[in-house]
Amino acid sequence: MLTHIRSTLWVALGLIALSFCYSAEGYENFKVAIYAPAQNVQMMGEPNWLEENWEIISKQVKADKIYLETHRDVILVDEETITKAKKFFESKGIEVAGGITYTIMESNRFKTFCYSSPEQRQRAKEVAEYTARLFDEVILDDFFFTNCKCKSCIKAKGKKSWTQFRLGLMDKVARELIVKPAKAVNPNVKMVIKYPNWYEHFQGCGYNLETEPKIFDGIYTGTETRDPVYTDQHLQQYQSYLIMRYLENIKPGGNGGGWVDTGAIRYMDRYAEQLWLTLFAGAREITLFNFSRMLQPISEELRADWHGTKTSFDFDEMMQPIKLEDGTTVQPSTMARAAGYALEQVDDFLGKLGKPIGVKSYKPYHSTGEDFLHNYLGMCGIAMDLVPEFPADANTIFLAESAKFDKTIVDKIKGQLVAGKTVMITSGLLKALQGKGIEDIVELRCTDKKAVTNEFWHRRAFWGRRGAVHKSSSDIIIPQIMYLTNDSWEEISCLTSGIGYPILHSADYAKGKLYVLTIPDNFGDLYNFPAEVLTQIKEVLMKNLYVRVDGPSQVVLFVYDNDTFIVESFLPEIVDVNIVTDNRISKLRDVLSNEVLSGQGPPEPPMWVRRWRKQKSDKLIFNTQVKPHSFRVFKCE
Ligand SMILES: [Zn+2]
Repeated sequence: MLTHIRSTLWVALGLIALSFCYSAEGYENFKVAIYAPAQNVQMMGEPNWLEENWEIISKQVKADKIYLETHRDVILVDEETITKAKKFFESKGIEVAGGITYTIMESNRFKTFCYSSPEQRQRAKEVAEYTARLFDEVILDDFFFTNCKCKSCIKAKGKKSWTQFRLGLMDKVARELIVKPAKAVNPNVKMVIKYPNWYEHFQGCGYNLETEPKIFDGIYTGTETRDPVYTDQHLQQYQSYLIMRYLENIKPGGNGGGWVDTGAIRYMDRYAEQLWLTLFAGAREITLFNFSRMLQPISEELRADWHGTKTSFDFDEMMQPIKLEDGTTVQPSTMARAAGYALEQVDDFLGKLGKPIGVKSYKPYHSTGEDFLHNYLGMCGIAMDLVPEFPADANTIFLAESAKFDKTIVDKIKGQLVAGKTVMITSGLLKALQGKGIEDIVELRCTDKKAVTNEFWHRRAFWGRRGAVHKSSSDIIIPQIMYLTNDSWEEISCLTSGIGYPILHSADYAKGKLYVLTIPDNFGDLYNFPAEVLTQIKEVLMKNLYVRVDGPSQVVLFVYDNDTFIVESFLPEIVDVNIVTDNRISKLRDVLSNEVLSGQGPPEPPMWVRRWRKQKSDKLIFNTQVKPHSFRVFKCE
């Protein structure tokens, strides 16, 4: 197959106007690494294979680093081949690191090592030693977990849950069979654990986010989210950003980078979006998985309907010939160019962004509940920041059901409210904490009953005295929350068959306010919430941020602490949005086009409301548009 790939490559074109001039210098704001799995590294031992294929890759994407994997499945690459490959890359000025995948057979439901087996434990140790002898940096790919349920593992588990057993087991394996033996062989080796994208479920297979980041010198983040619909994981696009931030918050300064593959995409933008979001979260390094996939031909099938309309990823622009430093040109041909082009779209402005900020949301270690929900809220335009410790300093905290894993969570919520702060919990967390102290704050019941709704009533929209009704595009099933009249209040209600239920509910406690957000049974229905409902949720959650974006779901906001922000749309059509900022900001400059937007104050409410609500709005509104699958970068002035 690779021979065939080679034969399709490198048509030099001299006549076409060139839009891109290639220099061998790397990108300004991040390093790019390519990961070569053991099967690829084996091929590097064959005559000319590496030379020819590296030329194809390196002319399309600027790589600074290569990971050479020593072990995957039953393959252990021989030292001679690895040494040859190492020398080749070093001679090109490319940084070299090692990689290990602890699988027995990846293709058989990711069959991992059995760490109850003395033979396999010995093998794991030997692979760590072998790799550490050859490299000063070693990364463990996605499979440093165990899903073995052999007789020995069942016996070793005893009365513990699988989660408890595997968390303890992998902690020990990490210390005793991987890091310690590796350091014994090479005291200078930097051992890095890369975590995959299923963070909500790590503990079930023994990935230990609490102890392993301390055991290893560095961590690394799998930011591949692929297609949110046509994959069995159904990861939301926002996760490529959120998980980077989450792991950075777990090991500040120690999250080495993000890792993206080319799999499971229906249009090329989806690949680029994963790279972009990883970088928007502040990644220092991007790893492109993998060497052979960088050689896959670019498929015309990945051209989308919106390409050719100057969206952030422009298929035709990507296909422009690349002018090399020596004056020759090459025609883009493989996925390496998709990566190179996507990275070039963001390198110019990444240095202008500050530190990412967002609504602090606490997810205790080894917790689960309303799995991956934070990403759906991110997709609704709420800038999220997931943290592993309770963020008592934050003025506003969002808590999903997973917060129930902290046995003192009710006391912590009370502490925030007594201090005059805001806490928003989900209906799922409310349900989990019923009878466990939450009623000490407010007596609510999240029942097992459901309601089906497509109408939402915004009771505080005084433009019509009765409020405004907003329709969702489809029916939404929600849990029914019951409350005691005049003790707590519906902020947003849904209407159905002549009655209604809370969607956003609030209760006073001391000087603070507790909000309960009703989460639809299907999280995807959050995307069907009318824009006006999302706005009201944002008004509460994002009140401490200087910017929010009002519009439909799937328009996302990334906020930085230096008055810069990015608005990115994942919609297939142009979308109108209102950027709402604090009124200390008078103008917005589009960093990419230099266009300057002027804002205006919100429309004056009627006289009778003005009499009632003395305070003038402190917001400015900037009306603008975002193209399909595109981002805009703004600097506040
Ligand atoms: Zn086993």
